[in-house]
Amino acid sequence: MRDIKSMNLEELTAYIGELGEKAFRAKQIYQWIHIKQITDFDEMTNISKQLKGRLKEEAYLTTLHKEEVQISKLDGTRKYLFMLSDGNVIESVLMKYKHGNSVCISSQVGCRMGCRFCASTLDGLVRGLTPAEMIDQIYQIGKDIGERISNVVVMGTGEPMDNFDNLLRFIELLTDENGLNISQRNLTVSTCGIVPRMRELADKKLQITLALSLHASNQRKRLELMPVANKYEIHDVIDACRYYFEQTGRRVTFEYSLVGGVNDTDEDARELASLIHGMNCHVNLIPVNPIKERDYVQSNAQVIAAFKSKLEKNGITATVRREMGRDIDGACGQLRRKYKQKMG
Ligand code: SAH
Repeated sequence: MRDIKSMNLEELTAYIGELGEKAFRAKQIYQWIHIKQITDFDEMTNISKQLKGRLKEEAYLTTLHKEEVQISKLDGTRKYLFMLSDGNVIESVLMKYKHGNSVCISSQVGCRMGCRFCASTLDGLVRGLTPAEMIDQIYQIGKDIGERISNVVVMGTGEPMDNFDNLLRFIELLTDENGLNISQRNLTVSTCGIVPRMRELADKKLQITLALSLHASNQRKRLELMPVANKYEIHDVIDACRYYFEQTGRRVTFEYSLVGGVNDTDEDARELASLIHGMNCHVNLIPVNPIKERDYVQSNAQVIAAFKSKLEKNGITATVRREMGRDIDGACGQLRRKYKQKMG
């Protein structure tokens, strides 16, 4: 069976051509899939019965099933648990901001990167998501709230660079003018620092934002939190970020989760400032979201403020991420984890 929702227009045109149809049909079908976001081929009213029949026989439309939604009473944040056709579940988050609706999507079922503070990686990787499974998170949430999604961040469960080809296709589909047509500038991809893939992405010269999960100011401390640092040394990761800026002109975001007593001292801030000195970048400070499997704690508000001002004094722009949806299952991967435990 053909995964028709993961095809770009070119592939779809070739496929529809094989079925003896003209290119304009492919474009119509593409728009049915990505603009109208149909879930059944029968909904394509301007397509012949015969062609629809053929598609039903040999292709499928990936559609995620909304299993559970949690809505925050504090800020309207919504956490979605979606079921995939093979029974795996993934989570996605909708955040409502003044400037628009932002969706955070998963790129894999589970993760194999092993970051110490993260719930998504506790049970390892099951598999990467297909392009259609990535994009349908956005389609389903858009339908659910009946509003346009303006921003997308690939910051949910999984390491997008560990599912690179599918990530690239997803980006192509999402930003295609024949589809949802989300601007590349409104898309952020977050990575734990897979250097060769970061460079490969840079070479594509897209206008998407690259976010690097840095979380430490030196190699030794980074290794304690992130096993991936064994493979890619901190300076090589920073160099890859510099390269990304050179190739794309896009300011890189550094994510830095503040963990009480681990990476939040004055010395850490000073070291961080010198590590990224002179770069066109932005630091996003995230109070760590404690997971029960580990004993990491949040830095207190004063420590966070001091860390931020130390960076700023050293000429680095920094913001503290506002915590959204505090009253619903907090950290990444916790909703899925709870569901899995409940289902045994
Ligand atoms: N694998 C990618 C994207 C998914 S994680 C990456 O590593 O960037 C998205 C972000 O959430 C990363 O910066 C990650 O380090 C951070 N994160 C994961 N668990 C967290 C927690 N419990 N508290 C705070 N940030 C967390």
